[in-house]
Amino acid sequence: MDAQRTLRRQVSCYGIGLHSGNKVRLSLKPAPADFGIRFRRTDLGDHEVPATVHNLAGIQLATGLARNQVSVETVEHLLAALVSTNIDNVIIELNSPEVPIMDGSAAPFIYLIHEAGIRRLQAPRKYLKIVRPVAISRGDKRIALYPSDHFKVTYSISYDHPLLRHQSRTLRITEDSFVDEIAPARTFTFLKDVEMLRQNGLALGGSLENAIVLGETGVLNNALRFEDEFVRHKILDAVGDLALVGYPVVGHLVAHRAGHALHTEFAAKILDETHAWRLVEAPMLDGPALPAAIPVKGTAAARLAN
Ligand SMILES: [Zn+2]
Repeated sequence: MDAQRTLRRQVSCYGIGLHSGNKVRLSLKPAPADFGIRFRRTDLGDHEVPATVHNLAGIQLATGLARNQVSVETVEHLLAALVSTNIDNVIIELNSPEVPIMDGSAAPFIYLIHEAGIRRLQAPRKYLKIVRPVAISRGDKRIALYPSDHFKVTYSISYDHPLLRHQSRTLRITEDSFVDEIAPARTFTFLKDVEMLRQNGLALGGSLENAIVLGETGVLNNALRFEDEFVRHKILDAVGDLALVGYPVVGHLVAHRAGHALHTEFAAKILDETHAWRLVEAPMLDGPALPAAIPVKGTAAARLAN
């Protein structure tokens, strides 16, 4: 059995909110088993917003959550970093509505998590193992999950832009593959959209320091981190949005031209389609639903997990 994990100690950083341009303090704090991932607004009496599909709100250019009129925005890169490093339980404190954008990737959050260190907890992790396909299509946008022994993502994108006619990548997501291949990939935007965003009071904190900007024929930034950094970033976004399911998913995610709206609609659909998955305590387990699948119980299981 795999044990649930949290951080060993508290870590903090400062950054700016992509849309507001305001300075934000972000702290990650250890949390007990079965606590889950919860945002806490220190500027609003420590009001908590758990990172689940039940609190989805305001999905446009980024993924937002809200509970009792208290919101947190742009959560997906941080969530991707947490679930990919197998952090099940953590308190995310923010003194502003927006998670700081940092460099537009998940790499700074990986650095923070590694700084904090990992602590194993005395409780088994539960995985959501896909046993039947689940899919959504909206025009030419598609997203689906198929049974697989591992968490794997295949993503393809195509835009009306000479650099982005077609990019596709398949990757088995592990802590190592995510850290090396996906976390450094930055968010991207088109120059023609930047003006429109600014006129609407959005992306006020956006710059070449935290996004790849595509002009008519090429990128305005000096260099890309990967030749196919764009599709890698889409994988990053999908991993972060899928975290809202609340369990690590074991299955093959296949997405074409999707985005936050479709990713998050899909995360909610997965939870609704209870015949399509089982909760298991080991990702390779194919057996019946959870209670019958545990060979040992209680403290023995917890001891084994450690
Ligand atoms: Zn993103």
